[in-house]
Amino acid sequence: MNLKDPTLFRQAALVAGRWIEADSSNAIDVNNPATGEIIGRVPKLGAAETRAAIEAAQLAQKGWAARTAKERSGILRKWFELMSEHKEDLGRILTSEQGKPLAEATGEIVYGASFIEWFAEEARRVYGDLVPGHQPDKRILVMKQPIGVVAAITPWNFPNAMITRKAGPAFAAGCAMVLKPASQTPFSAIAIAVLAERAGLPKGLFSVITGSAREIGAEMTSNPVVRKLTFTGSTEIGAELYKQSAATIKKLGLELGGNAPFIVFDDADLDAAVEGALIAKFRNNGQTCVCANRLYVQDGVYDAFAAKLAAAVGGLKTGNGFDAGVILGPLIDRPALEKVEEHVADALAKGARVVQGGKRHALGGTFYEATVLADVTEEMVVAREETFGPVAPLFRFKDEADVIEQANDTEFGLASYFYAKDLSRVFRVAEALEYGMVGVNTGLISTAEAPFGGVKLSGLGREGSKYGIEEFLEVKYVCLGGI
Ligand code: ADP
Repeated sequence: MNLKDPTLFRQAALVAGRWIEADSSNAIDVNNPATGEIIGRVPKLGAAETRAAIEAAQLAQKGWAARTAKERSGILRKWFELMSEHKEDLGRILTSEQGKPLAEATGEIVYGASFIEWFAEEARRVYGDLVPGHQPDKRILVMKQPIGVVAAITPWNFPNAMITRKAGPAFAAGCAMVLKPASQTPFSAIAIAVLAERAGLPKGLFSVITGSAREIGAEMTSNPVVRKLTFTGSTEIGAELYKQSAATIKKLGLELGGNAPFIVFDDADLDAAVEGALIAKFRNNGQTCVCANRLYVQDGVYDAFAAKLAAAVGGLKTGNGFDAGVILGPLIDRPALEKVEEHVADALAKGARVVQGGKRHALGGTFYEATVLADVTEEMVVAREETFGPVAPLFRFKDEADVIEQANDTEFGLASYFYAKDLSRVFRVAEALEYGMVGVNTGLISTAEAPFGGVKLSGLGREGSKYGIEEFLEVKYVCLGGI
């Protein structure tokens, strides 16, 4: 790989302050999804290394929590600066293992680093309370303390940002973290661990363990030292980890699947709605949990919106993320490609119509054409399941009550979007949507300043914002008597 700083690409895991190199007998190959080429390998570790990392984390956490918030903040700030300084290299590593276009990958690094910056600032603003007492000789103090050792499991769709959203608040609060990144994209995680060391994060405070998800997950969930598990991934695995964590009563942070509705009312600015749909649907090639999965368009503007969207989507270039002008990369792997194909085939068999794309891309591999489907109905699989690919299914609706009912008719509740101008409608609809997040007249809502998270099967807790750090703190009540 052509990097300015080649030491950022390291084929090793960081366990309890020690680097473990990959060896040929026991390693996981990592490939570039655009070419299928093996870009490197990481060690295949399991329960023993996870346990060692947890023990080291427990030790390191005590010293870390004892430092002043300003000291912790300074180290996080340094980490943020290093990530920003090396954003091009980090972007290249990310594109090599994930496939997204280089500009988008570098954008993710900037976005990911912004969580470290934000929580470096928040570290110094963890306030307790002095509560008016219930008796004249008593005072009630409330203090906030770090929850302790945190385990984190992250996915491949944002190999950098899904980590920083967890690590930033954890370290800011005074916690330690043991991380298992997705096996498809471990090098982005490893690179930020290299930079964490350089920034001065104490040895053992942050481990990055690559290897068997099941074994590492089982140790993380059963080990009583781990007080919180934070996970981003599928609802299926999230529920499994929730179950596994029951015996040790861990605090859970779960960012799970979505089935985001994207509603275009007939008073919407259609060009703005098309622009928003391109971002909300096609960013990361449709592989984000906040991607619009169902596009509901009101009767009166349905045909016009479909035509405009198809024209815009037809102009998106698909290809290798390193090639100039590419907007859409490959899908992550074969199963992802097959899922997209199944969703489209099911929709077509039940009466949907292809307006744009609709099949595997001529480039082969895991490339799929950017697709728009019309005449999509509630009976089709795309109405219920996340496609996680570049397919925009257009549903038709008559009125507000009808579309709210359809939009809420899902077990998920992460992101939702709608385009409308009428102010009272904007309030009514924003209040009626059963989702953790609502984008009004915008397709891009994620930022370090805002609380990201879902309701229903989409998860527990919030990441980012002033709420994000609370997830890594315990509230302690101290009753002061005899005054
Ligand atoms: P996705 O469909 O996005 O890959 P997953 O939920 O399968 O979502 O994966 C998200 C993360 O969870 C990855 O790091 C993966 O390795 C990990 N994971 C998968 N299965 C398990 C498991 N049984 N225990 C712990 N972690 C797991």
